Formats: sequence, C-alpha cells, structure tokens
Amino acid sequence: MATDMEREEVLEETVKTFKELGVTDVLCEACDQLGWKTPTKIQVEALPVALQGRDIIGLAETGSGKTGAFALPILQALLEAPQRFFALVLTPTRELAFQISEQFEALGSSIGVQCTVIVGGIDMMAQSLALAKKPHVIIATPGRLIDHLENTKGFNLRALKYLVMDEADRILNMDFETEVDKILKVIPRDRKTFLFSATMTKKVQKLQRAALKNPVKCAVSSKYQTVEKLQQYYIFIPSKFKDSYLVYILNELAGNSFMIFCSTCNNTQRTALLLRNLGFTAIPLHGQMNQNKRLGSLNKFKAKTRSILLATDVASRGLDIPHVDVVINFDIPTHSKDYIHRVGRTARAGRSGKSITFVTQYDVELFQRIEHLIGKKLPAFPTQEEEVMMLTERVAEAQRFARMELRQQGEKKKRSREEANEDDDAEGAMGVRNKVAGGKKKKWKA
Ligand code: AMP
Repeated sequence: MATDMEREEVLEETVKTFKELGVTDVLCEACDQLGWKTPTKIQVEALPVALQGRDIIGLAETGSGKTGAFALPILQALLEAPQRFFALVLTPTRELAFQISEQFEALGSSIGVQCTVIVGGIDMMAQSLALAKKPHVIIATPGRLIDHLENTKGFNLRALKYLVMDEADRILNMDFETEVDKILKVIPRDRKTFLFSATMTKKVQKLQRAALKNPVKCAVSSKYQTVEKLQQYYIFIPSKFKDSYLVYILNELAGNSFMIFCSTCNNTQRTALLLRNLGFTAIPLHGQMNQNKRLGSLNKFKAKTRSILLATDVASRGLDIPHVDVVINFDIPTHSKDYIHRVGRTARAGRSGKSITFVTQYDVELFQRIEHLIGKKLPAFPTQEEEVMMLTERVAEAQRFARMELRQQGEKKKRSREEANEDDDAEGAMGVRNKVAGGKKKKWKA
C-alpha cells in the first residue's frame, strides 16, 4: 500500500505546469504574470498536441481557459517564425472578439505581438488603416472580415498559418455559415486549425470535416455540464412580484457582483432604470446599444464601478467577466441551452458562484426542461415573503419612474433620428416632447 507521502507525490506529479506541457519560458512568465499558476484542464489536454502542430477540436465549457489553450500555441509558433497576418480568430460576437484580443495582448506583450479586432459597428476606414499595418493576429466576426476581404485594397490572408474558430456552434447558429465558407476559400489549405465549441452540433461536425485535418479531440466536460463549484437555485414566485423579489435578493446578497439576464432589450433597460432608481449601481448591456456604449458598460462593470450588469443573451456567452459572484435569470431562458451559457458567467476558473433562476407561473415547463437538461433537481433559494412584501411600495414607485424614463429615452432616440434625417425639422424639440405622454411604448428585440 502506498504511504500518504507517496500518494501526495503521485498527486503532485499529475499537476502539470505550463513548462511541462511544452510552453516556452517567455510565455510561461506571461502566464505567471496573469496569475495563471497552473494550466486548466483544457489547457493540459490541448497545449501539448497543439504545440506539436496538430489540428484541434476542443469541446470546453465557458470559463475553462480555452482562449489560453489556443493563444499560447499560436504565440509560440509566431515566436519561432515571425510573420504578419499569422493567425485569424473567428468569433461570433464583438465583445468576445475584444476579450480574445486582450488575452492575446496580455500573453504576448513581452514578445511584441500586434493584434487587430475586426468587427461590425466600428468605422471601416479605421479598420482598413489597422489592417494596413499588417498585424500578426486578427480577431474578427465573420461578416465584417468578409467586407474587408472584398473591399479593402491590398488586404488578403493568403499567407495565414493558423485559423481558430471559437464558439463554432454559435458562429454557425448565427447564420454565419456562408461567410465561414467564403473565408475558408481564401486562406491556405496548408495551415493549422483549432475549432472550439461548447456543443458538438451537426453543423459543427460538418465544419470540422471541411476545415480540419486529422484533428485531436480535447474535451473537458460531458455535453451539457455546469461547473462543479456552482450553487444553482430557483425561486418560484408570482410574475407580478418579480421586481420586488429581485430587489430583495440584491439586498440579501449585497456586496457581490451580479449579472442579471433579461429576455429582451426593453426589459434589460427597464430593469436597469428601476434598480438605479432604487440606488443600485446597475448598468445595461444589450444589442440595441451602439458598440461604444456596450463596451463602455462592460468596462465599467469590469472596473467594478458598477456591481450589477443587466444583459440579454447577446451578452450571455463568451464574455470574460472574472468577478461575477451571482447570476440571476430574471427572465427564464427560452432555450434551455442558454441556461448553461448564462450560469457559465459565474464559478469560472475554479472559483465558486451562485445562480438563481426566477420561475413564475408561466415558466414551469421551461424550468422543468432546464432541470432535465442539467440532469438534476435544483433547491429553492430561501426567501422571507413578509420582507419582500415590505418592499413592494417603493418598488412600485421606482417602476413608475423607470417606465417614464424609458418612454423619454425612446422619444429622445426617435427625435435624434428625425433630426438626423431632416435638418430643418420644423417640429422642434418641444413639439416632440409633448408627444411623450401619448407616445407608444417602443418594442425592443433582444
Ligand atoms: P476563457 O474560458 O478562455 O474565456 O477563460 C476564462 C478566464 O479564465 C479568463 O479570465 C482567463 O484569464 C482565466 N484563465 C485562463 N487560463 C487560466 C489559468 N491557467 N489559471 C487561471 N486563470 C485562467
């Protein structure tokens, strides 16, 4: 029988370092500076094979450290054979693109890596200038990259060495299939390809066959698993008291950082206004905000000047927000897979976290589907009904204000659009403002 000492030695042996996985010294130092003490599971699996030059299909849960798993081998190869337009990373969303770029820059700062983000919603001209500088790594959403490949003089990816498709399932679900096909046609066949996806869908399998050569599969979780250190709860409440219960929970868990998911842009905005009226530092993030505002929101939340981020599913995947303590599903997700992605915002990289899902009389079936998907029954989050009821009056007042502000914001937007369209609009600001009281509530889509 092995002694305790021997057992400890065996355990220690199984904990690998970045160096043992084949990462070169300068990049090991970069990991160390980022506070990455040991590689995560996906990094342990993917790094040695990727560093040997194999293609990879990575099935990894959100927050698993997958960006490091593909960025390190690319940076190491770049060190060995420096070249412009060396790697292309395709991602489904703009936010994710910026986060990936941040990780590349953080890991590669000491080797002087240059990255450019090419996403929609940002000036094409500025991006063309950035491309003219010939960066080493491009992180892009497929649509905008195609725009540049077709219209930006002198830009091509004919010398590309590495292609990464991150969150491939999501890229394909967002109907970027044609764009991805087009991109595959204009990059060299002789390249390395890493495909990462949370789920292995039929479309992803098809893409794998089309784009990867004899890939090694690296999977760190079974299909729809949520991370181990996540405490998941639900609360079952009447729909009309949702706001009061939300305020109660935010008070109960004060001191934490929260990410609250709503199903529409409108409700995200409304709930943010409601919470602000009640003195919370809440900030919205949704698809109806322009790119600068979205990044601004995200940065304020990251810098911890705001403790509550309200978001639609646009923001539910891929966001790198390391300090989310609690995820609240204020509106239950209609697609149960989104549940996994939403709660994946907390309990990241070995930390613990909580999620609380609001279930009203209308949501029972959806909730049962979620429980079925994750394969377990969730406990109820303890609440004191009398305390919640004591909040209803203040909440009702804040709701009234929020509705008013929302209407005013809608009108203001409409007004600035009208002003942009007709410079000499005779109606004037007051005339428009007078319409506010009778104005229709604008419907926003997620
Ligand atoms: P990702 O899944 O790539 O979005 O990474 C999630 C978070 O984990 C990011 O904040 C990374 O900075 C962090 N991370 C990645 N690798 C490690 C590691 N080996 N140790 C600690 N944190 C890590």
